Amino acid sequence: MSIADNLLKYKSELDQASVKLIAVSKYQQADAVLEAYNAGQRVFGENIVQELVEKQAVLPTDIEWHLIGHLQTNKVKYIAPFISLIQSVDSLKLLTEINKQAAKNKRVIDCLLQIYIADEETKFGLGFDEAVELLRSDEFAAMQNVRIVGVMGIASNHAQEKQTLEEFKELKVLFDGIKVSFFRKADYFKEISMGMSGDYKLAMDQGSTMVRIGSSIFGKRRIKHYTVE
Ligand SMILES: *Cc1c(COP(=O)(O)O)cnc(C)c1O
Repeated sequence: MSIADNLLKYKSELDQASVKLIAVSKYQQADAVLEAYNAGQRVFGENIVQELVEKQAVLPTDIEWHLIGHLQTNKVKYIAPFISLIQSVDSLKLLTEINKQAAKNKRVIDCLLQIYIADEETKFGLGFDEAVELLRSDEFAAMQNVRIVGVMGIASNHAQEKQTLEEFKELKVLFDGIKVSFFRKADYFKEISMGMSGDYKLAMDQGSTMVRIGSSIFGKRRIKHYTVE
């Protein structure tokens, strides 16, 4: 199956459910991204800043880029001019820097709070209490150049289906709680980014509004051609 065929398969399934497809193009060459673009895909997710910046520079300007990987505060400035959605906000410190760089670029940057749902030590993300604390803070209240539009979560690797299901359910409950407490009147707070190649159907059943799919669109990830931070 070609990249275009794979995309087509997802498109009909996701369109029907009004779920947005983020094509995860990390470690893929720009020509693979272009192939997906030519097949109609406009939203791409990357998880390394340097790789994202290099691709953004050579690919069509109407691509909507999402950052889905851990973001260091000192790298925010490189993506602030063009990024459409930062899905991986995992601290108040990072959000503060995004707000600052967005202001410098005279724009508002949409963000998701990455919530820790996996049963693993290795995943980044905020606990529920930390997310609430961030949203309650005076610092957040004063931010003019960021907008929190929802939450993102990554389920445990290699988990049994039952566990993955519980993790997605947990994220949905957290989303609902945050919505009621902080964004009751904010229509823009509506995104739940959960689901990848292996578990997107489960995620959609649990209320996902965007799925992040890489390997089953692009095939196996290429050798890391880009310098990793
Ligand atoms: C790599 C990655 C994906 C895509 O994973 P696949 O299994 O290739 O679909 C989704 N989300 C995040 C945060 C990732 O790093």
